[in-house]
Amino acid sequence: MKRVTANVYAATDIRGCNPGYVVTADGVVIIDTPQLPTKAMAMREEALQKGPIRFLINTEHHIDHILGNIFFAALCPVVAHELVFQDFGTVSAGTPYSYSTEVIKKDDPQGMALMPPEKDFILNAPTVLFSHRMTLRVGDQTFELFHTPGHTRGQTAVYIPKEKVAFVGDTIFCECQTWFHSADPDAWLWSLDFLRSLDVNYIVPGHGPICNKDYISKQSSFIREWVTAVAGGIAKGWTKEECVERISFLDRYPVDVGQESAGPMIQQKAVERIFDFLLGKIERFKKSPLFDFSYR
Ligand SMILES: [Zn+2]
Repeated sequence: MKRVTANVYAATDIRGCNPGYVVTADGVVIIDTPQLPTKAMAMREEALQKGPIRFLINTEHHIDHILGNIFFAALCPVVAHELVFQDFGTVSAGTPYSYSTEVIKKDDPQGMALMPPEKDFILNAPTVLFSHRMTLRVGDQTFELFHTPGHTRGQTAVYIPKEKVAFVGDTIFCECQTWFHSADPDAWLWSLDFLRSLDVNYIVPGHGPICNKDYISKQSSFIREWVTAVAGGIAKGWTKEECVERISFLDRYPVDVGQESAGPMIQQKAVERIFDFLLGKIERFKKSPLFDFSYR
């Protein structure tokens, strides 16, 4: 794992999300887990060398952020937003087990030996839930959890003031393709604005390299660009299918590591979701009360 600050570690170069952990005077807090079993076990071993694991926080319910939870079962409570819990284990096709094993067979063949048989497979779901914000104090560190809906409805950012670091999950896709398939773009923009109020030197995004607050403008502008492109299609009278055919941002960013072949699917799902959003066909995310003030 890459060292971000004195006590913060994250991996940005593996298939799946960017998982990380924070070392405190009283053990370790994990933020998201690697999707591939060998990587999850390696992170677990590395973290345990720094102390007992006190909490595991999930920033969203998508499988690339939570599958590795099974390798942390019985070690610590799992903390997440209540909507992450409600959506936990939902996948676009098949079951979490079939979806995951397909990925593992392809990208982590040795990892299959670490997977339990399907009958014993239980996702290690969150047990400690919050609504808007939550503070965890562990040893000498404080963890501020904020509900930042947008990419998903339960999306969460984890701010560690002492380290001046925030793990923002998929609210930022740094220099790689942005996934819109479960998104509310308006809520996403509000959440990005909220992140500007955090006093951080480093942001660990959900995907792509570590960045800083300068990237917030780039991400929010890209979201606006996407929405504008689909809105332009609707204004010209294009159907959803015509929008899918004619709109692509594939040339702008690479797809995050290990998912290169998903590029066209990411474009299609983004167009379809934004099209439905602009037609008022998706249930809008509730505005977080956090957006009415800046966190200081
Ligand atoms: Zn993700």
